[in-house]
Amino acid sequence: MNVNDTEIAWSILQKKGYQRTAHLSEMCVYLQADVVLLVTCSVREKAEQTIWNRLQQLTAMKRKRLKTHTPMKIGILGCMAERLKMELLAREKLVDVLAGPDAYRDLPRLLAVADGGQQVCNVLLSLEETYADVMPVHHAPRGHSAFVSIMRGCDNMCSYCIVPFTRGRERSRPVCSILEEVRMLSDQGVKEVTLLGQNVNSYRDMSEEQFFGSDATKLSRGFKTIYQTKRGGLRFSDLLDQVSRIDPDVRIRFTSPHPKDFPDEVLHLIAERRNICKQIHLPAQSGSSRVLKAMRRGYTREAYLDLVRNIKQIIPDVSLSSDFISGFCGETEDDHQQTLSLIREVGYNVGFLFAYSMRKKTHAFHRLQDDIPVEVKQRRLEECITVFREEAERVNAALIGSTQLVLVEGESKRSAEDLCGRTDGNMKVIFPKEDVHVQPTAFSTVPISAGDYVLVKILSANSQSLRGRALSLNSLRAREVHCRTPPEDQPDEHVVQTQP
Ligand code: SF4
Repeated sequence: MNVNDTEIAWSILQKKGYQRTAHLSEMCVYLQADVVLLVTCSVREKAEQTIWNRLQQLTAMKRKRLKTHTPMKIGILGCMAERLKMELLAREKLVDVLAGPDAYRDLPRLLAVADGGQQVCNVLLSLEETYADVMPVHHAPRGHSAFVSIMRGCDNMCSYCIVPFTRGRERSRPVCSILEEVRMLSDQGVKEVTLLGQNVNSYRDMSEEQFFGSDATKLSRGFKTIYQTKRGGLRFSDLLDQVSRIDPDVRIRFTSPHPKDFPDEVLHLIAERRNICKQIHLPAQSGSSRVLKAMRRGYTREAYLDLVRNIKQIIPDVSLSSDFISGFCGETEDDHQQTLSLIREVGYNVGFLFAYSMRKKTHAFHRLQDDIPVEVKQRRLEECITVFREEAERVNAALIGSTQLVLVEGESKRSAEDLCGRTDGNMKVIFPKEDVHVQPTAFSTVPISAGDYVLVKILSANSQSLRGRALSLNSLRAREVHCRTPPEDQPDEHVVQTQP
């Protein structure tokens, strides 16, 4: 979300004549930054501590600049501005401008006021702001991939989470503005679009009269919400359907979903549409129904595992990733063991695992006790990481011998001799830089470039990545042809097996 927020803020400032510099402390004064804006996250304490440290460094730089009469303003954008406004303004006057996640349109005014030497702040949350009419300036390092924000905020109020307080209520961007942005990205040559939202699959466009209706929102079986059932609106499956039709050669991903919003129609659409990646992030947070209840997640261990079974049945070649929190309030050794067993049972490729840190304002802060000692949280986290790695290695090893369609990102960070890209399942693949045939049957060979789709034969795997050898250039459309052709009619190397 922060990459997308940066792109939105930058788009707004660019229209007002601001220029971007890549070098904070250029020797030439004309290239030095006059304004430094930090886009922040408050989900975990560690992320906030990083920003506090950065602020100290920037303030030292700012004081030095004052001596040379080249002033610099410092701004905090996003969740930290929302959560810690008073502290940020008060503490040693580190910050000139504060803008919450719904106040980026106000940035030019805030910066103008700060020019007069005042500290200035806008952290008002909105029930409507989606920045639908702001075309973000895409500048992601993966130049052929782009993020498109489709909804903001969250209504779930999980007991540990600060997001509903820093990002506000759920609101969705009108479908027409999303389609327009994806069309523009396709025209610019973007090959992969990731739809973004705090609860991306809770998308509900109510912007047009014909979308209103009395149909209750369908949830995943066995899941419930803490809020009253919502009705009507154009749902995530409708949006996904329309977005994926724009360009069959653009891969579509989405993050971060909530497991409650995977009714069968979403799963069938992912299974059927070639350019919707067969990769689902399914944040579990815990494997214990008792802890899940304390977290107010709206499901039990059994309901979550039923959903996993349903997903694997409908999308047999799916890759799953998840989030887990170790050491939540009241978590026992038995609860922890249930989390380890759930990780083993599901078999994820990728995981985001953290030790619990209590956040002010949350339900847990007011009602529960952060009673797990730090060293126990840490030990449980390390055990979860170990099991996760073992399982990811096992899942990835099953891909050895298969041929994967890889979207090339560019040179590998570790070696200029290698290229790096991602599979449909979002696994990183490293392979030697060598010329390949344009089509499996063609005689001539060409070098591989970033943004190409390449068929790669997987030769080895570990818990983090895959290694392979490039076979030929290809496309998502061609992949459809390969998948439909009976395997016995094709040489082995040309069959795309996303799972052997
Ligand atoms: S679903 Fe829960 S964890 Fe996710 S953003 Fe909303 S409150 Fe936070």
